[in-house]
Amino acid sequence: MIPGCQSEGRFIMQFVEPETPIYLDYAATSPVDDRVLGAMLPFFGRTFGNAASIHGFGRVAAEAVERARAQLASLLRCAPEEVIWTSGATEANNLAIKGTVRASGKAIAHVITQATEHKAILDPVLGLRGEGVETTVLPVDAEGRVVPADVRSALRSETVLVSVMTANNEVGTLQPVKEIAAICHEADVAFHTDASQAVGKITIDMEGDQIDLLSVSGHKLYGPKGIGALVFRRSPKLRKLRPLIDGGGHERGLRSGTLNVPAIVGLGAACEIAAATLEEERNRLEGLRDRFESALMDSLPDVLVNAAGSPRLPTITNIAFLGVDAESLLLSMGHIAASTGSACTAASLEPSHVLRAMRLPPERQISSVRFSFGRPTSQVDILHAVGSIVKNVTILRQLSCISDPP
Ligand SMILES: *Cc1c(COP(=O)(O)O)cnc(C)c1O
Repeated sequence: MIPGCQSEGRFIMQFVEPETPIYLDYAATSPVDDRVLGAMLPFFGRTFGNAASIHGFGRVAAEAVERARAQLASLLRCAPEEVIWTSGATEANNLAIKGTVRASGKAIAHVITQATEHKAILDPVLGLRGEGVETTVLPVDAEGRVVPADVRSALRSETVLVSVMTANNEVGTLQPVKEIAAICHEADVAFHTDASQAVGKITIDMEGDQIDLLSVSGHKLYGPKGIGALVFRRSPKLRKLRPLIDGGGHERGLRSGTLNVPAIVGLGAACEIAAATLEEERNRLEGLRDRFESALMDSLPDVLVNAAGSPRLPTITNIAFLGVDAESLLLSMGHIAASTGSACTAASLEPSHVLRAMRLPPERQISSVRFSFGRPTSQVDILHAVGSIVKNVTILRQLSCISDPP
């Protein structure tokens, strides 16, 4: 028996914790806000018209869609007619990338992105390699940030698009989007940003920051799943985009298919609510996040916050509990919903490509958990979660000292 380690049986009992669940996975998805649901309901019922029909039923639906367009545009500081409704951010990213490359008409086109993007950017970009497109995936620093000068040196005469996310979905790192967009503008290259995690959480100014294309996901900001948008700005030099889905010519011919009116209305309402509460929520969540991090660091040794040295989203923290396997920790606290990596790659059980790109030591990568906070998260949730985490990390560290003695 190693000193400090107790018998295994005693600990197993403590793993049974019938407690009320605490959801700390808002970066994976968020619940639909009651006000959003209320705004959507009539459009499943009496107001069921097709927004493309010219009669009264259609006009009512079309007006609701245009109101939602204005709500989204006002949150992002762009023009309503620049909004293209899609099925989500995955489709918006695909449209931005493939649509820009295909519209460029270049025999050889070059696309630049960076290593910590969501798979919904990396997969379409790397997929284009099969179609004669050249790609550059820029590295990040230890905080997960792209160095703007690296973008400048990667630009070529064939470059048609640079895509760098606004905020990372695993660690919350904010990218220097404004600086990168300015570099792209100087070179007359289109700039796209996947802002799925940032929309409604931090201020976004597409006009001021010279962002040409931006992807939005409804279900990350208390809207419904299966709706999103690509904002495609009428830049000083008119950029071109090719549709991925052809048909009835909806959305200026850039995305055909009957509009999902209830979901669009919901996303519009979600944007308006987010705009009205953005500053206040941002401060509140930043306070909760800081409290959560410092409580864990004060209570446990060897706790490290990943990307702590970078400007970050108020909603995400990614924390390494050295010596503890992150999956085991999540399994041991069944009532706390958090994740390792992103929900989309979680099924693959691969180590996080984000933490790897940040070149964190392997033992830090495998012991890292993402906790993400949202509108319903309270001070009490945070304190209860800290209590469970501290208890379970302590138990798991003692168990591992039984199984692999130092
Ligand atoms: C959630 C997410 C997506 C995917 O959005 P969907 O609307 O679910 O397709 C893309 N990028 C980032 C950064 C995300 O967080």
